[in-house]
Amino acid sequence: MKPHGNICFRVCTSWVFCSEKRQKCSFSLCSHSLSLKVQSKIMNQNLTPEERELIRLHNAFKKKVKALEQEQKLTEDYGPHLNTGDQLVAQIQLHAKNREIVQQDRERLQELIRDHAVCPKCSKNNQLKLIGTDKSPEGWKSNKYRCRKCNIEFVWNAPNNPWDMISYVEKFVANLEHKMQQEIIAEQEKEQVLSTIEQMKLNLAKLKPVVDASDEDLKAIVTKDLEMAELVNKFRKYLLIEKIRMED
Ligand SMILES: [Zn+2]
Repeated sequence: MKPHGNICFRVCTSWVFCSEKRQKCSFSLCSHSLSLKVQSKIMNQNLTPEERELIRLHNAFKKKVKALEQEQKLTEDYGPHLNTGDQLVAQIQLHAKNREIVQQDRERLQELIRDHAVCPKCSKNNQLKLIGTDKSPEGWKSNKYRCRKCNIEFVWNAPNNPWDMISYVEKFVANLEHKMQQEIIAEQEKEQVLSTIEQMKLNLAKLKPVVDASDEDLKAIVTKDLEMAELVNKFRKYLLIEKIRMED
């Protein structure tokens, strides 16, 4: 297990909208605004169907206003409305990008854990095939393998993700400490066990803040998702009403 303690910095340096490099991750609270010119160049694939539809409606609305303007048939000033629409589209794109970054960040976090499984029968790993995941009796999500040599299936006895890895290591350390207290560890092994305990505690101290920060980011993005959905829905209704009014 090699948790990297640098994830916040990595996220911020890959943060496309901030020109500053930040030592501490606060991208979910980022207030750096982006000029409309730059925003319009960003094609985002990570939009929800509702967001995509709103952008389509807004663009169609803009086109219609422009056409009416050229024909000098425009009866009111749509400038402020178009401006609001442009800003909302920019906000949608920015939020979608944030959402993508948080998702990618969590995927990277998931990939931190390599379980180094070996077959319980032949004790080798060269014929193993990952066939899925399963829950351990403790509730951890673990990888399920098939050994093609021995033709058996088994669930590896360690978690396959950093979230469950925290409680797994905590339990492992507590178990070792208990054994040390009970004096059931041979004298010559004590030093090695103490060093293992220390190393595992260090790993935990690195892993925990990274996992916590990712969970906080996810929480912030879910909250923002709800806010954006409400805004998108409101503006969609407005655009549909305006469209009907124009056609009358
Ligand atoms: Zn085997």
